[in-house]
Amino acid sequence: RGRVGAGAIAIERLTFAYQPGRPVLHDITLELPAGSFHGIVGHTGSGKSTLLSLLLRFYAAPAGSVRIDGVPLEGIPEESFRASVGLVPQEPFLLAATARENIAVGRPLSDAQVEAAARAAHADGFIRALAQGYDTFLGEGGARLSTGQKQLLAIARALAGEPRILLLDEATAHVDSETEQVVQRALAALRGRVTVVAIAHRLSTVRDADRIVVLNHGRIAELGTHAQL
Ligand code: ATP
Ligand code: MG
Repeated sequence: RGRVGAGAIAIERLTFAYQPGRPVLHDITLELPAGSFHGIVGHTGSGKSTLLSLLLRFYAAPAGSVRIDGVPLEGIPEESFRASVGLVPQEPFLLAATARENIAVGRPLSDAQVEAAARAAHADGFIRALAQGYDTFLGEGGARLSTGQKQLLAIARALAGEPRILLLDEATAHVDSETEQVVQRALAALRGRVTVVAIAHRLSTVRDADRIVVLNHGRIAELGTHAQL
């Protein structure tokens, strides 16, 4: 399967506007080494999701560049891009299907691959504790999952594709501290294997990140570890 390399991201002088003359990202330059864990925080409307959208090629930036392992985003073939970049969206969807099917989502994965992804996402524990484990029916008419469990399931789903890069847009500012901790631990455990970029509403959610990027009105206001900020 075609892939990018190790998953290093280089963002250089990236500027973006949805409407001409009203930029929402200004001159963003950021190096994200392969296997690093970066958190992105900033108040609502500061441009966090827009930055993620650009990394996902949802939009093309008029100025600046994003390169993955040295290759400009626009030069990466679609199949290779999709195999290499995993997304945990702001509102993960649940299929009316089993936990296993919710991780595989149509891909021809073995039980071992599904369960390995769940373990990497720290989702294995709660799934095994469900009435029928991986065969428990979820979604409409099925077992109810907490917000944190849904997030871990969505991380498992993304990891099952063995991405080099994992992008997360945290669903809500109102996650409980238990959820925050499980997701935090799951992400930190991926360090060295997957390049993680996680949008968080609170600094504490990305406490373990190698670096935290603070966006303010589309600009990098601060950059450092949790201890430094
Ligand atoms: P939040 O914390 O609320 O998720 P955010 O930091 O993710 O906010 P963005 O969604 O990136 O912020 O929005 C940045 C700016 O771009 C905001 O002013 C927003 O109104 C604007 N914006 C976002 N999406 C669009 C769009 N599709 N069309 C036009 N403007 C948009
Ligand atoms: Mg957002």
